[in-house]
Amino acid sequence: MSSRYDVVIVGSGPVGTAIARELSDLDPALRLVVLEAGPVLGPVPGGHVKNIADPAARAAVVAPVTGTDRPAGSTPARPGTALVGTAAMPNAATSTNVGGMGAHWTCACPRPGDDEMPDFVDLDEALDRAEELMSVTTAAFERAPLIGTVQKLLGERFDRPGRRAVGSMPVAVATAADGSLHWTGPAVIAGDLWSRPNVTLLPSTLARRILHADGTATGVEIVAGGERSVIGARAVVVAGDALRTPQLLWASGIRPAALGRYLNDQPQVMAAALLSPADVPDISASELVPVSGVSWVPYAQDRPFHGQVMQLDASPVPLNPGVTVRPGQVVGLGWFCKKEISADDRVWFDDAEPDGNGMPAIRIDYRLTETDHAAIAAAKAEIAEAAAALGTPLGEPFVMPAGSSLHYQGTTRSGPVDDGTSVCDPAGRVWRTTNVYVGGNNVIPSATACNPTLTAVAFGVLTARALRAAL
Ligand SMILES: Cc1cc2nc3c(=O)[nH]c(=O)nc-3n(C[C@H](O)[C@H](O)[C@H](O)COP(=O)(O)OP(=O)(O)OC[C@H]3O[C@@H](n4cnc5c(N)ncnc54)[C@H](O)[C@@H]3O)c2cc1C
Repeated sequence: MSSRYDVVIVGSGPVGTAIARELSDLDPALRLVVLEAGPVLGPVPGGHVKNIADPAARAAVVAPVTGTDRPAGSTPARPGTALVGTAAMPNAATSTNVGGMGAHWTCACPRPGDDEMPDFVDLDEALDRAEELMSVTTAAFERAPLIGTVQKLLGERFDRPGRRAVGSMPVAVATAADGSLHWTGPAVIAGDLWSRPNVTLLPSTLARRILHADGTATGVEIVAGGERSVIGARAVVVAGDALRTPQLLWASGIRPAALGRYLNDQPQVMAAALLSPADVPDISASELVPVSGVSWVPYAQDRPFHGQVMQLDASPVPLNPGVTVRPGQVVGLGWFCKKEISADDRVWFDDAEPDGNGMPAIRIDYRLTETDHAAIAAAKAEIAEAAAALGTPLGEPFVMPAGSSLHYQGTTRSGPVDDGTSVCDPAGRVWRTTNVYVGGNNVIPSATACNPTLTAVAFGVLTARALRAAL
């Protein structure tokens, strides 16, 4: 055993980083190590790549994996991600770098509402802390051209008593004194974490297996630079995303019945519209900000869709002869639906066919039910109405391939009791283990439509507190 820590955390995305940060804040004497399979991108470990000013340097670290080996039915991978899905979920993707997907994300941080919220745990205060850790604000795009117009038109269509009002999307973005935007990557969550004496970040280090006996983990087998070694631990937290967290548990022989099951990807419907000329004052292109406005049509139980509305960067180029597009005038709409949760939707692992890391290969079973198809049809109808309310719809609404949301949830879901339908308790401790914890969107048990990262970090806050108490 080469070294020994109090806690080994696997994964340096927003959740793994938040758990490390909370643990270290609660008890600076704790010896923590964060293992990350991927390398550091850019000058700041876990920094959001959009903060890299030089376009060439930025492009060099976000090349998506595209090409002929894409699964049938997929669209090209988003920057910074690699497609890992199969035909059942062709757009399933992961990021492997310090910061995980959190180095590439759009930073939308809505709170879950109504029945999106799990009913066996009170998350409110942890959500407050998660917002604080990620610098969440609704003010980042206040000065975006036409954002007020977009919100007024959508508010007239969707605001009702009892619903949360249409408004600015809460985003994890800070605005500097000079007006420039700083996107929250895990580096912001970390603060000075990586320079604290008892905290270590090990990039390009794969957690290969959790070592355990009688339900108690004793360490983690790691592979770095082709060399295998073992590090000792009093507790292990796996926050390796919703596909690879269950993969590591499976590879370690920790296999609760619900492991990998209840996989939940939010079906995503897209549309676009051009704001009516009557609503568009003559705005100069110099007022353009990097993304000119992110608005929110919050989920409500009586219209179960989460609406993310992004005014697209548009230099004033003619759309059709005679039509000049103003900054902020082209509006992209994304409606996320709740998925009907089923134990049969799952990620499972093929021991017979190891992946490039020698881990059991990821396989996905996933099916849309009649209820899901009905929800998608309703979302298409509603997003078409939203586009028409904004002005001139640009084309027909369309449904993205499964996996496009990048919001995979449920595969190590939490639950109030160990009844075979969950993998961990509300604080992320894996049932029938004393000291193995899981974190990430995979812990979220409920059918949500909203972007999940804020909720996952809130669960991570609970994990850190419970783990600190247990230690
Ligand atoms: C383009 C894009 C836009 C997005 N927009 C939004 C948004 O607006 N709002 C939102 O809520 N979410 C968004 N997401 C999703 C969001 O980024 C994820 O929900 C979030 O990053 C999940 O955090 P995590 O820490 O659980 O996992 P990740 O960020 O995926 O990090 C997991 C890390 O664990 C590492 N790892 C896995 N297995 C191992 C192992 N065995 N050993 C060592 N390391 C391992 C991985 O390499 C990875 O770096 C977006 C994602 C992308 C790519």
